[in-house]
This record gives sequence, C-alpha cells and structure tokens, in this order.
Amino acid sequence: MAIRQIRFEGDEILKKKSKEIDIIDEKIKDLAKDMIETMYSFDGIGLAACQVGFLKRMIVYDIDYTKDEDSKKNPIILINPKIVKSSKEMITVEEGCLSFPDVFGNVDRHQKITVEALGINGEKLKITAKDMEAVVIQHELDHLDGVVFIDKAYDIYKYDPKEKASQDKKCKTVKKNSSKKKKKRA
Ligand SMILES: [Zn+2]
Repeated sequence: MAIRQIRFEGDEILKKKSKEIDIIDEKIKDLAKDMIETMYSFDGIGLAACQVGFLKRMIVYDIDYTKDEDSKKNPIILINPKIVKSSKEMITVEEGCLSFPDVFGNVDRHQKITVEALGINGEKLKITAKDMEAVVIQHELDHLDGVVFIDKAYDIYKYDPKEKASQDKKCKTVKKNSSKKKKKRA
C-alpha cells in the first residue's frame, strides 16, 4: 500500500467527470487500498479517486475513525455508486475537503439517501445512509461528476491554524480542547 498524491484546488482533474469502472482488476483493488491509506493519513473521512488523479467512479469513506488508539477502522469502498433515492428533508453540515486544505463552508444535502454500488469484489451493494454518512457520500459523488463542495457551499471561510494558536496563547483561560473543534474533510 502507498499514500497517493492528493490533487489540490486549481487542478483541472477535479472538474472532470469520472468514468464507470468496467472491470475490478488488481489495479483498481490496489487503488482502493491506497485511497483508504491516503484518506487515513490525511485525517480525512472520505476520498474520491479523482482526488488522487484517477477519473474512475470509486469512492472510499469512514465517518467514524479518529486517531484515538481504540478507534476501529471500518472503511467502505463504493464502485460506480448511484443515488437511487433521496429524502426531501435536507441537512446542513459544515464541510471541508482534502483537496481544499483549511477551507470550510456550509452545504445543504439530503438528510437520507439510498445508494446502489458495487463492492471491491464486484458484489452488489445497497446502502441507506443518513446524516453524516449521507453527507459524505453526496460530497464524494459530486467529485465523480467534477463538482466540488465550494461550488455549492455558502459561508465559506479559511481556517488558519496559526491564527488559532496565537489566539489560544493570548486567551489562557480557554480550555485547550474546547477550541479544537474537529474539522472533518472529505
Ligand atoms: Zn472532497
């Protein structure tokens, strides 16, 4: 396994539509493993193949993993995913993206979706996801169509870790952890 190079904002590949995967060969399986490793290594909760330079309709995600020792890894791989049902009800979550470091913004998404896809061994999957899982899947599926979250986001801002650190120093009464809101990127 290997950590792949993430493609960042400004890279044309992020605006391109990815192609369906016809055959799940060893190359695709290796790519899936590498995508998972890359996602974890950058502390992400989701990753689309185009974000590491491959215009293939494959995403990986794991919304629960944290770097805590007792956290279990439970990565999910979806090949050729399609949303077949989506709720009228919407939710708004602050999103980030591994391809847009330190940029965050609110995006309205369907609260619940049903997705059909293939698993890594070609098995048919049907997943009903809600809340954060639904948000991450919709974020990643947008990537497969060349859409990035800032195309849809509002209240966009750039998070500056340095600024945050100097603020913390000035304001000693602030509990360290209270200012460390976990930023999730996908
Ligand atoms: Zn993203």
